[in-house]
Amino acid sequence: VIDENWVRSDRYHNSFLIRPDVALEHALKNSDEKGLPQISVSAAQGKLLQLISQTINAKRILEVGTLGGYSTIWFGRALPADGHIITLELEEKHATVARQNFEYAGLSSKIEVRVGPAVDSMKQLPAEEPFDLVFIDADKPSNPAYYKEARRLTRKGSVIIVDNVVRGGRVADPAEEGPYVDGVRELLKVLKEDEGVEATTIANVGEKGFDGFTYILVL
Ligand code: SAM
Repeated sequence: VIDENWVRSDRYHNSFLIRPDVALEHALKNSDEKGLPQISVSAAQGKLLQLISQTINAKRILEVGTLGGYSTIWFGRALPADGHIITLELEEKHATVARQNFEYAGLSSKIEVRVGPAVDSMKQLPAEEPFDLVFIDADKPSNPAYYKEARRLTRKGSVIIVDNVVRGGRVADPAEEGPYVDGVRELLKVLKEDEGVEATTIANVGEKGFDGFTYILVL
C-alpha cells in the first residue's frame, strides 16, 4: 500500500522539475493497457537515471529488465546521437510492448531488445565492448549473477546501478526470508569483497513506496 503523502510529495517535486513527455506517458499507458505490471521506476527515479547517464556521458548502456521500456526511454533521452542501449527481457510480451513504446518515442534505432533469460544474454556480450552504465532491474535472486556479468562488461569509470535493494527495509530485517531478499543480501556480500568497486545504497521514498538503488562505481 502506497502512502498518499509520498505520492503527493513526488507529484509536488515533479511539477517543478520534470517536464511532461508524451512518449514516457504513452509508454506507461500502453504498458498498462497491454496488461503489464506497474513495476517500472517512478518518474523521479527515471529522471535521476537519465541525469546520471548524462553526467557520465554514457554512450553505451545495458539494462537488465525491460518491462515496457519506461526506464529505457529515460536512458534513451540521455544518449548522444551515436549512443546505444541493449535492454534484456525474459518475456516476449513485455519486449513487444517495449518495442512499440520505443517506436512511439522515436528511439527504435538506438535501442535493441534481446529476449531470453538475461544471464544468458549477458554471457553472449563481448567484454571487448564495455558499457558505460549497467542498470540491473530484473528478477532479484539473479542479482549476484547479473553483477558478475556486469563487472565483466564494464571498465574503469563505468557505473552499475541495482534497483529495489531496500524494499521498505525488509532486506535488512532478520525476520525476512526468501529468494528476493536473499538475492539482494548475496549481492551486498559480493560487493563487500570486491575491491575493484566503490558503492553505496541510497534509499528513497516516493510514489512507488520505500526502496533504494545501490550505486556502484568501477575503479
Ligand atoms: N526497468 C523497467 C522499468 O523501470 O521500466 C522495469 C523492469 S521490471 C521491474 C522487471 C522485468 O524483468 C520484468 O519485465 C520481467 O519480465 C523481467 N525479468 C524477470 N526475470 C528475468 C530474467 N531472468 N531475464 C530477463 N528479464 C527478466
